[in-house]
Amino acid sequence: PGSLESLDHCESEDYKLCLESGYGVPIVWSCGPSEAGQQFRVDAPALARLVARAGAARPVALVSVAGAFRGGKSFLLDFMLRYLYSLAEVCTRARHVLALMRSGHDDAANWMLASSGAASVFTTGDEPSGDDWLGGEEEPLRGFSWRGGSARETTGIVLWSQPFPVTLPTGEKVAVLLMDTQGSFDEQSSLRDCSMIFALSTLLASTQVYNISQKIREDDLQHLQLFTEYAAAGGGGLAALRLLLRDWSAPYECAYGAAGGARYLRDKLQVKEEHPRESRDIRQRLAASFEDMSCFLMPHPGLCAANNPNFQGKLSELETDFKQSLRELVPLLLAPAHLRAKHVAGRPLAARELPVLLQAYLDEFNT
Ligand code: GDP
Ligand code: MG
Repeated sequence: PGSLESLDHCESEDYKLCLESGYGVPIVWSCGPSEAGQQFRVDAPALARLVARAGAARPVALVSVAGAFRGGKSFLLDFMLRYLYSLAEVCTRARHVLALMRSGHDDAANWMLASSGAASVFTTGDEPSGDDWLGGEEEPLRGFSWRGGSARETTGIVLWSQPFPVTLPTGEKVAVLLMDTQGSFDEQSSLRDCSMIFALSTLLASTQVYNISQKIREDDLQHLQLFTEYAAAGGGGLAALRLLLRDWSAPYECAYGAAGGARYLRDKLQVKEEHPRESRDIRQRLAASFEDMSCFLMPHPGLCAANNPNFQGKLSELETDFKQSLRELVPLLLAPAHLRAKHVAGRPLAARELPVLLQAYLDEFNT
């Protein structure tokens, strides 16, 4: 089983407080075409601080969510944050309990187990059990800012300020970084900007979640292919690709979740005789680019999420099916057994190499 050490850089043992002290750090953003030709900027000092927090020598596991503007990416990332903070809490508690038992304080250990409801800690492989991690029914959803009003967001990449130290089942210690991307496909950003941000995030990430609305259209595949070409020009190792279909409306054809998604994806990527040449090429090239590709079908969160201006992202405001799918999806992306260190040229990427790699890609793209 994998495990997670305490967040040493977080002052509090109360992980809800940790979440409140965290924030999204803009790392890369587009500053439009300029005479110098420089189009993307990096906040090097902010990135350096993140690297220090992650541990310079530690391999990084970067989990990114990219796709269309207002597609619920930041909203999903905030549930991913809840999972990671719960993982930290479960592991810290488990370590405290073990320490108490080792020092002969069995009563205190038992009290701690009983009071925290953590009795299952030792049987579930150090992962948050049941629904605890999803949070309280009436808790407003915090973290990366979502919704964002109608004001234009910049196109760029945002990392969560707190890296999560995780030990993988293999014993390898990694720092998990969550990556949000902004501005994809809103009218005002050019397709080139979006392609570059997608390409950059796909090159940097170990897992890329491509967030798509309702179904995979031919132009989603074309965009993906275009993004991947930019990424290939950058020459690095591509992420494991997780296609996430939001507001899936045909659960009777393909069920919600990973199993339905696998079926749907198999059908979508199948090269058929009646396909035009271009469609066949796209499918073949995608299959060749991403050796690890999967799909997940997510139900609609409910009318409140879509229409109510006072929606706060509370569980009580979400449909049961949607919550059930979150319980399945988030551990598939983030449980220690499903995390992986980012590999570049066949070896794990240490946090301190991240700024160098990022700058190298940007130099490539900016010219
Ligand atoms: P982002 O631009 O992709 O980061 O989108 P946000 O996370 O800011 O969410 C934009 C809006 O979509 C918010 O009002 C959310 O309530 C809503 N939303 C979140 N998830 C979903 C979903 O799965 N389906 C639909 N239809 N709306 C969602
Ligand atoms: Mg967003």
